[in-house]
Amino acid sequence: MDMIGHRIAGEVVASAATFTVENPATGELLAEVAEASAEDVDRAVRAACAAFGAWGRTPASARAAAMRRLADVIDAHVEEIARLETRDTGLPIAQTLKATIPRAADNFRFFAEVATRTEGHTYPVDDQFLNYTQRRPVGVAALITPWNLPFMLATWKLAPAIALGNTAVLKPAELAPLTADLLGRLVLEAGIPPGVVNVVHGRGEVAGDALVCHPDVNVLSFTGETTTGRTILGRGGPTLKRFSMELGGKSPVVVFADCDMERALDAALFGIFSLNGERCTAGSRILVEESCYADFAGRFVARARRLTVGDPFAEQTLLGPLISAEHREKVAGYVELGVREGAVLATGGGRPAGLPAALARGHFLEPTVLVGVDNHMRIAQEEIFGPVACVLPFRDEAEAIRLANDVSYGLAAYVWAGDAGRAHRVAGALDAGMVFINSQNVRDLRTPFGGMKASGIGREGGEYSLEVYTELKNICVSFGRHPIPHWGA
Ligand code: NAD
Repeated sequence: MDMIGHRIAGEVVASAATFTVENPATGELLAEVAEASAEDVDRAVRAACAAFGAWGRTPASARAAAMRRLADVIDAHVEEIARLETRDTGLPIAQTLKATIPRAADNFRFFAEVATRTEGHTYPVDDQFLNYTQRRPVGVAALITPWNLPFMLATWKLAPAIALGNTAVLKPAELAPLTADLLGRLVLEAGIPPGVVNVVHGRGEVAGDALVCHPDVNVLSFTGETTTGRTILGRGGPTLKRFSMELGGKSPVVVFADCDMERALDAALFGIFSLNGERCTAGSRILVEESCYADFAGRFVARARRLTVGDPFAEQTLLGPLISAEHREKVAGYVELGVREGAVLATGGGRPAGLPAALARGHFLEPTVLVGVDNHMRIAQEEIFGPVACVLPFRDEAEAIRLANDVSYGLAAYVWAGDAGRAHRVAGALDAGMVFINSQNVRDLRTPFGGMKASGIGREGGEYSLEVYTELKNICVSFGRHPIPHWGA
């Protein structure tokens, strides 16, 4: 079993306490990991503070070159990272190897460009003054990430943070910390100075909280559950650091009868069942126009039954295990609750049949579809974060919008419609940070990523990341001899 320490100022550092991580497909113990105390976290923050001076002054072009080197190092290790991520999370290898891990390298290449292209504004005042704006790094960025896409989400935050001149302390989720440790190693391999990126492991309530409350952490970027986000804002508020919060979702897929039904089915299935359904932007509430509801739901269910669930290392596997026994219990509990609430379990809800003995201890759940769901049910309102689709009928456009928005979350939304005017009208009316029309969830790194309502505060991505990871400064210069009172002269 591997021993994993923190990575602080380029050194591997142990803690008095440890915790273990297991392979969610097999139950095999993967690693014993150092569990940070508040003192360990303080040491990491001090390392980041010490590295900030030189890194913050490093020319943007040199930081950008370092980001490109790191992207190349990630590319050279894609296979190793993807295999480790799949062992740690149960995400199918086809999805880690071809999609989520290569995207991590893209994050560094993209923010290398952003760092060298930051612009300012000028505000001339007659011929007397000129105001101009400048962007400066904020300082130490604490990055707290969830377990569902650990490597990609860590790089999604780390790339803008360090490309723009900050130093960082990354705290990955305790359920899947292994690729964050590997990232800490690759950062050094890419020649990024020790202390610019520090990785600490541990429990949210201890290590995470120590970052949240630390007075020398200047910006905190968090991705995780809405309830955790609320705790963090309450705990960290008094330090007046900056917060970027990417939280949960319960995203609607609105299907109108005149849409390209096959493509809507493809996207709806992929949207809820990819990444094992553990996806913040999952289209978990599928609202279908009454006139095609029976046809759509029937076809959706038939296709869900055909999805291959099993060994995440098998090429053909579409769904692997859920992250932990506890999480599987929570997800399966929602399925039971849905049935008690009056929804109809059309398929799934149980352990897939015929799994090999090696996977007997894995946290597998069949792709599950609940139909006849009412929007007031808890299964339609709460984030399940697993391979569970709720399918609901709607009568007309107005009801579709009302149902789609009648939820506390507002992360993503998907609209499938043939009538272009209607598609844009509905997209405009939905409470969601990101709306996709006749499209699955595609990510362009220039666009704002984030949610409304209980799905978060702030946006990251492209120029929007500057709001999180830079301080905006105004500098005013006088050209002439404007009047200044001669007090006490
Ligand atoms: P979580 O909130 O349980 O944990 C996320 C991280 O926060 C972990 O590193 C955890 O250790 C830490 N943490 C927990 N309690 C803390 C505390 N009191 N103080 C500081 N840190 C603390 O979330 P999870 O179960 O790991 O991830 C799933 C959630 O993440 C889902 O709700 C999902 O929607 C959300 N998510 C959102 C996005 C997005 O961009 N909006 C992306 C991916 C996942």
